[in-house]
Amino acid sequence: TCAIDPKATVSDACVSYATIDELNDQVYPLLQSLTQETDFFSYYRLNLFNKACPFWSDASSMCGNIACAVNTIESEEDIPLTWRAEELSKLEGPKAGHPGRKLQEERPKDRPLQGMLGEDVGESCVVEYDDECDERDYCVPEDEGATGKGDYVSLVDNPERFTGYAGMGSRQVWDAIYRENCFLKPLPETGLSSSTNNFQPGGLQAANDFRSLLQQESKRGDGFLLDDECLEKRVFHRVVSGMHASISMHLCWEYMNQTTGQWHPNLQCYKDRLHSHPERISNLYFNYALVSRAVAKLRKHLQDYTFCSGDPVQDSDTRRQVSQLTEILADRPQIFDENIMFQDPSAIGLKEDFRNRFRNVSRIMDCVGCDKCRLWGKLQTSGYGTALKVLFEYDETKNGENPLLRRTELVALVNTLGRISHSLAAARSFHRTLTAELAGV
Ligand code: FAD
Repeated sequence: TCAIDPKATVSDACVSYATIDELNDQVYPLLQSLTQETDFFSYYRLNLFNKACPFWSDASSMCGNIACAVNTIESEEDIPLTWRAEELSKLEGPKAGHPGRKLQEERPKDRPLQGMLGEDVGESCVVEYDDECDERDYCVPEDEGATGKGDYVSLVDNPERFTGYAGMGSRQVWDAIYRENCFLKPLPETGLSSSTNNFQPGGLQAANDFRSLLQQESKRGDGFLLDDECLEKRVFHRVVSGMHASISMHLCWEYMNQTTGQWHPNLQCYKDRLHSHPERISNLYFNYALVSRAVAKLRKHLQDYTFCSGDPVQDSDTRRQVSQLTEILADRPQIFDENIMFQDPSAIGLKEDFRNRFRNVSRIMDCVGCDKCRLWGKLQTSGYGTALKVLFEYDETKNGENPLLRRTELVALVNTLGRISHSLAAARSFHRTLTAELAGV
């Protein structure tokens, strides 16, 4: 099967790959520019080091990083230190700690804070008072269980790419994430939840088509899907699997040959991890539709948003690009309809369960035993969590009653869309190479 047939459709989102590719052609340069060139979107604050893995002991999580992962690469000892997995996993660049609340309150308003590189940055970029948890959040707040408020990390200096993190450690984390995919309320006769028919536009017929499509997908899936799973469980699976696919795409796209020390796209890696699993590609497109709809939904909210790098020229440029992005996304026919999910009153418990399970996925990220992978894993989980919060808890027509959108959530959301957008571009490029290879060109 061709993994990226332009006529294939993203089942849950009711839109074709070709439509999404065309949309991505328009927004890709904007997302690249926002995430690579603006201070607002290229620094992310998170607790990377001071939160313990809540699910298993530190000893076994360390195994993922050093003992297990390094051992999986043959003759690791024979290659230069800088090419080893342990070295590739490390963070690059300076970090800046978050100022405590007391310090924030004491500091005169007119004295700018120092940014990561010692430069002056605007206050609201660095000082975030709004860390309190909201029950409508799909992610755990970054200070939960942490000893500090976290560090600012440059996403540009620490690109998501091959690190060599593999083996038992990473396997344990993925397994734990997929195990969260276990929901309440299956209907005994069908195994599908009571809200099934609310999910797919087009009513019962469409829902039945959708069900059969998912059943086909589950048969050729990764062993995580069973035929009798409920719909919400499958949607949850698609989000997680799409995120996994995007991570795989980036490590294949910027792969390091540990013998030569060269970075290059690795076609075989793409073939093995993605091309031969069309459902993973489909989940990637599904996530594009879901996250881009969430960003489009924030169009009004972001019109009055204060972007604050301390440089008014950069701020207005950031605002211009964000507004262009949201306009392009919002002007399109809606590519993901969130209003058909969780509508049935009996689905309230299911939504709560969905939210709690997603929060658990964000907690599992503290068990990732490779710093760079943990950084991008946490950012993207937060990005999807924010997208789900915006889709299911936000009302575009209301002001003031919507849940708070923290700066970290907005940065995570836009960077997550940037990652998926880059994954789709990489997939097309791999696909072109593969087609040329098959044609003997
Ligand atoms: P894995 O990717 O570990 O997959 C494990 C199993 O999950 C597979 O055998 C398959 O059955 C199933 N599976 C795989 N993909 C999918 C999918 N899309 N949908 C459903 N099921 C699937 N490595 C890097 O080099 N760079 C990174 O930045 C990086 N970030 C990571 C972030 C996180 C949160 C985690 C947990 C790991 C990360 N890794 C990273 C490691 C990487 O994801 C792989 O685990 C590693 O390369 C080993 O790959 P594998 O072939 O054993 O299969």
